Amino acid sequence: MPGGADQTLIPFLWRAERLYDDTEIVSRTHEGRVRYDYADYADRARQLADVLSADGHGRGDRIATFCWNHHRHFETYFGVPGAGTQLHTINPLLPDHHVEFIVENADDRVIFVDPSLVEKLEGPAGSAAFDGVEQFVVMGDTVPDTSLSPVTDYESYVAGGDPGYEWPDIDEDQAAGMCYTSGTTGKPKGVEYTHQMLWAHTMTTLTPQGIPVADDDAVMPVVPMFHVNAWGLPFSTTAAGAKHVYPGPSPEPADLVSLIEDEGVTVSAGVPTVWLGIQQYLQEAEGDLSTLERVIIGGSAAPESLIRWYDQEHDVEVVHAWGMTEMSPIGTVASLKSGMDHLDYDGELDKRTKQGMPVPGLEMKVVDDDGNEVPWNGEDFGELLVRGPWVTREYFERPRATEEEFEDVPASDASGESEEQHSSGRWLRTGDVVTVDEEGYVDIVDRTDDVIKSGGEWISSVELENAIMAHDDVAEAAVVGVDHDTWGERPVAFVVPAGDVDEDALAGDIQAMIEADYPKWWRPDAIRFIDEIPKTATGKFSKMTLREEYGDRVHVQDVPEDAAPEAEEE
Ligand code: AMP
Repeated sequence: MPGGADQTLIPFLWRAERLYDDTEIVSRTHEGRVRYDYADYADRARQLADVLSADGHGRGDRIATFCWNHHRHFETYFGVPGAGTQLHTINPLLPDHHVEFIVENADDRVIFVDPSLVEKLEGPAGSAAFDGVEQFVVMGDTVPDTSLSPVTDYESYVAGGDPGYEWPDIDEDQAAGMCYTSGTTGKPKGVEYTHQMLWAHTMTTLTPQGIPVADDDAVMPVVPMFHVNAWGLPFSTTAAGAKHVYPGPSPEPADLVSLIEDEGVTVSAGVPTVWLGIQQYLQEAEGDLSTLERVIIGGSAAPESLIRWYDQEHDVEVVHAWGMTEMSPIGTVASLKSGMDHLDYDGELDKRTKQGMPVPGLEMKVVDDDGNEVPWNGEDFGELLVRGPWVTREYFERPRATEEEFEDVPASDASGESEEQHSSGRWLRTGDVVTVDEEGYVDIVDRTDDVIKSGGEWISSVELENAIMAHDDVAEAAVVGVDHDTWGERPVAFVVPAGDVDEDALAGDIQAMIEADYPKWWRPDAIRFIDEIPKTATGKFSKMTLREEYGDRVHVQDVPEDAAPEAEEE
């Protein structure tokens, strides 16, 4: 008989409220900086849960957010799963047709939306995909002029809830969260997180080999709360009883530095682009990072020069981590193993620049094209496969994708015909091509699929190619990611024109077509006209050849400011 209580999120909040009732939660918002403590927070999370329950929402109902990082968004982190409902965090940077797809696919009942994102949501909300949405709630105390309906403001919405609400009994296998990943081709794929997955992820995160937080830390997740629960930090920070600091909508480097200074932030986390932005800012302006001890960088590879700069200029340790939406998300962390004292600084940096070692509880293996494991020698490479208690075993309502992206999925199981099928041994194919050195440090060298990650956000090359090839004057088009100092990668389109065409006019048409259907930051930075797209032996576009042949020669201009993901924020 298993003993004790189920592994759910609520005990983390219970502990923070009982032991750290006056520890602060601080949030930059459109109304200014807001601060309160765990005691007030827990009351408001319970009020929210009470309103959801009173409105008839319970197990199986998905409640969505379309929000940046702030205290009200954090209230949904415990309030929604605590009511037995499921928190679905939607990425507001997605193209409208992706938002339509995922709201319909998830069958969201309520959507909490930021004031600055109301207009952005109005487009997709006008489609039939939103027919199941019963309520929009604007994250503030007023409602702007909007076509969203029915709509109310958050403060009025929670005001009717009881702060003494009693959390219902929750089963650890109950869904607590959900996030869609649009890494690969085709429609975004939903990943559900059970209470038990989030509990296990929180516990591994808190180990010294994870990204630990202690009760004297002040933690500022810059990684968006719609990206896999801000890498789980709101949960681990609560479990530890530490202070939360939320940077609010569209934080500029100056806002982040002033939050660090004023609130004594000790731990922060975000994609490399954020930390490159702060680096650039601090090279010109004054800023005090003396309280900041650690910065977790992940989502894309952290450049060595960045790690070195924070170390040397500000005595801030950069901890490089790797993970995926499918993994709640932490997989590996590049901390130094004991016994590495013999390494000099450059030797240490070699290790710290890799993606790192698996966190406790996770298993990994690297396989070649024939499925054979490759040795851990730092040279042989293959695809990384992982499994563990916080790694999903399937995509939401996507048996085919599940069959393709997990190993050991019998076809009958993937199609849902054999629900009893034992799946705990199931490995997730990460799509990352890696080497692992003798000490167990993973180093990502490539990806198996064709996707572009720009500033931590995915761009589907295949969607862009299809959009470009829809033009009558285009015979073929391939879109590849080209290295970019600030954004990691940026898309560049290679186009074979159909006959004799005015290339400048065609390039203008292509950009206009893309801009009509996609966010500005999806626009290719350059369009190169070539005679033929190189092909692989099986006739597919050989993007590797394109990158090798043209990668260094393609001039990727500085991304115009309005083409950055954050430019869409307000
Ligand atoms: P997502 O599901 O959006 O979190 O994206 C997961 C993918 O991002 C991984 O499979 C990697 O390809 C990439 N990724 C995440 N972290 C890192 C990292 N530290 N270095 C390089 N790539 C990373």
